[in-house]
Amino acid sequence: MLIGAHVSASGGINRSIANGEAVGADCIQIFIGSPRTWRSPELTEDTIRKYKDALSGSRSIRDVVVHASYLINLASSDAELFAKSRSLLMQTVTAACAIEARGVVLHVGSHKGVGVDLVSSQIRDVFEEVQDELRGSSRTKLLIENTAGAGGTVGGSLSDVRMLLSLPEKRDRLGFCLDTQHLFAFGYDFRDHEILDMVLQELLECIGTIDCVHLNDSKTLPGGLHDRHENLGEGEIGLVALRELLRHPMFSEALVILEVPGDGKGPRFQDVELAKSILND
Ligand SMILES: [Zn+2]
Ligand SMILES: [Zn+2]
Repeated sequence: MLIGAHVSASGGINRSIANGEAVGADCIQIFIGSPRTWRSPELTEDTIRKYKDALSGSRSIRDVVVHASYLINLASSDAELFAKSRSLLMQTVTAACAIEARGVVLHVGSHKGVGVDLVSSQIRDVFEEVQDELRGSSRTKLLIENTAGAGGTVGGSLSDVRMLLSLPEKRDRLGFCLDTQHLFAFGYDFRDHEILDMVLQELLECIGTIDCVHLNDSKTLPGGLHDRHENLGEGEIGLVALRELLRHPMFSEALVILEVPGDGKGPRFQDVELAKSILND
């Protein structure tokens, strides 16, 4: 298990390595390009070289995941939006492969009420295309993230996660990113031991090994569907339940990424230190 944080890559992705070191991270998550625009996440040869030099010269950062744009919606029934989403995801995947990232974390998107059954075949098509592309890379995977569940988003329930992960004929480059706050917000109150056991059993059956975790406490109560991250130990989940969840062996190879608010500017050194202290004992 490597423990780190989402950090800024503004000014060039090579800058993200120093930003990760500054907060004491073993691993980082970055956006390539802006997460709230449709602009293609292009990387120049020069940027890639600077990034690889920074990473290989780093004393602490050992792995990196890329988070895809929030605008991507593979579950949209709007043909134009779906096409733009597919294209932006493929460009992000290509960029992530170029930097040999561990994965691309993706929110699948929202069916906006039409129901997931009507859009599952278009999602499968994209997963197959992405996996074909990823097979040409050394290690990069597409990592589906569970959502808090508001507004018809696909992937809030563990049954949705199971369905998504079983879409491709062969699942060799498709993995899972578990966001602890989203899991809780959707309604899985894993402070309760029976629910925790049920969640772990379900995850074991549908995925087995977790590639990435977004480790966040929650500002809001379970079942509210609100995507509201809180600093560890300052929210409704608490340190005990987070530790109980992540001590399962299925997380032993995961990159654990904090996406907590800190003082308002994102994860701080003390947040990463706290995560290490509860998970490394
Ligand atoms: Zn996310
Ligand atoms: Zn979130």
